[in-house]
Amino acid sequence: MEPLGPGSTGPAVADVRAALRSLGLLAVDAAAGESVGEEYDPATELAVRHFQQVRGLSVDGRVGEETYRALSEARWSLGDRLLHHDPERPMRGDDVTNLQERLLELGYDAGRADGIFGRETETGLRAFQRDYGLTADGTCGPGTLRALRQLGRKVTGGRPQLLRQSANFVDSGPHLIGRRIVVDPGHGGADTGFTAGETTEADLVLDLASRIEGRLAAAGATVYLTRGRDQNPTAEQRTAFANDARADLFISLHMDAHGSEHARGVASYYYGTGSGTSSTVGERFADLARREMVARTGMLDLGGHPKTWDLLRWTRMPAVRLDCGYLSHPVDRLLLLDARLRGTVASAVLAAVQRLFLPAEADPPTGTFVLPQGV
Ligand SMILES: [Zn+2]
Repeated sequence: MEPLGPGSTGPAVADVRAALRSLGLLAVDAAAGESVGEEYDPATELAVRHFQQVRGLSVDGRVGEETYRALSEARWSLGDRLLHHDPERPMRGDDVTNLQERLLELGYDAGRADGIFGRETETGLRAFQRDYGLTADGTCGPGTLRALRQLGRKVTGGRPQLLRQSANFVDSGPHLIGRRIVVDPGHGGADTGFTAGETTEADLVLDLASRIEGRLAAAGATVYLTRGRDQNPTAEQRTAFANDARADLFISLHMDAHGSEHARGVASYYYGTGSGTSSTVGERFADLARREMVARTGMLDLGGHPKTWDLLRWTRMPAVRLDCGYLSHPVDRLLLLDARLRGTVASAVLAAVQRLFLPAEADPPTGTFVLPQGV
């Protein structure tokens, strides 16, 4: 191309001026309004010199092939377009440089940060996507960008373990947006479960489930209950419901009773055979939920236990059953009949869900995690 310089006019100059303006190097002329002008005036020359200096080009104030290419590449910032490897016409731009720099920072070999999306960039990107549980398609789209942005510059040196831990957080977001959670109030319909005076276990766990539903939904999760007041689905129906909903987490709610009036406290159950095979996420959530409840209510901690119950076995996601106290115990019963305490239990479950999806280093001490106002 013919180099542009002082004295040049025409659409090509307008193009250059528009690029300089979008980079913030050329002020908008108030009198001219939206029109960029076709004159290569002294302001244009100054802006070109500035651009060349910043980019490490030879500074001559003229727009030749190299400067022109640099100007058009500079117009792309990460997120403007999908990036992928095109062997015919390699994609070039500042967005590519930015992607390469981030991958290199995270310890992935993406080749030189030269702003050209080549084979090495693709290989590095795929490796990152694989480690993250993203689709390893070598295309940098919204999901990959979100993961890269969330990581920011916190993680350096390529520590895959840390990356994977943080990936949970990246995927779920701080407020559970996109998470699907099934809450399963036990019993229902003709099956009332245990009773405490006029009140039934079935009614109490349904009330508790609704409170949990409200809090989780306010935090951005999509929540489903397995039953209404008058239904009593089988274990098979409850688990099929959760599987069909493609839930990320299944929380079943019960209350206990016992012939001995001394029996009291909170227990949690997760899938496990007790001899090695168990759901690690289930176990962690069972532990978090029970500890949050105990810390907030002062009820007795009866521990977490592996079980192979159908409800835990047939669900294809981490599944936990919480037994939230004994209706046969005088103190537990008084607590469970109190709507405020059921609200506290619901907050404990919400805190546990939040903690399940938070990175380990951001995990607050039990009983202290409070959602920010306005979510
Ligand atoms: Zn029950």
